[in-house]
Amino acid sequence: MCSAVFIALCAAAMFTQQWLLLGIFTAVYVGIFMTGCARIGWNFFFTSQNELPSSTIPSIALTFDDGPTPHSAVILDILKQHDVKATFFLIGQRVEALPQIARQMIAQGHAIGNHSHTHHHFINTKRTADLVNELTQCNQRILQHTQHQTTLFRPPHGVTTQHLALALKRTHLRSIGWSIRSFDTASTDDEALFRRLAKQLQDRAIILMHDHCPITARVLPRFIAHARQLGYQFVTIA
Ligand SMILES: [Zn+2]
Repeated sequence: MCSAVFIALCAAAMFTQQWLLLGIFTAVYVGIFMTGCARIGWNFFFTSQNELPSSTIPSIALTFDDGPTPHSAVILDILKQHDVKATFFLIGQRVEALPQIARQMIAQGHAIGNHSHTHHHFINTKRTADLVNELTQCNQRILQHTQHQTTLFRPPHGVTTQHLALALKRTHLRSIGWSIRSFDTASTDDEALFRRLAKQLQDRAIILMHDHCPITARVLPRFIAHARQLGYQFVTIA
């Protein structure tokens, strides 16, 4: 739709030799396209679940990306102590390296999803066939090591593309986004991270965090207590 409007506007500008307008249309389109790639909440190439469905009890979902890692065990202990269930989006290669932690996630009642096999830095430049391979391999490792078949997928870096849209269709995976981004990987101040989370906290929130970050483990108990005090229940992504 966006592309059709852009092509029509460009054709009109070219036909009337409005070169400045043509440049403006192109710049605006490239800006919208790039932002659509970077912002999962825009649902630009495909629809992601960015919030929980409504429920009679105010609910939030903690989600952790990029595990399993040795540090995931610290997060799992905290969740167990506070009787909280969360959703972990796993990297296939890491499941292969630390299958016992992936199994522990399942055993403790957490949900798990696919976060690609390699989480390669340039994964978002891959074409459909390579992405299908990434998604399939991750699901195979999860199934092999946990006997769990997942249908959930979180795009690495939250970046979406047309090729990923096709890969999701072919692998029958459902994209899960978020409504609160913790920016824990870039955080160094515990108090600032807690305040950022607390300020945005609202019913149906899906919160993006990472289980390999020590700062996340430091802030998590306080955040769980805070959310509970406000009446929120913790749910997994179903
Ligand atoms: Zn990631």
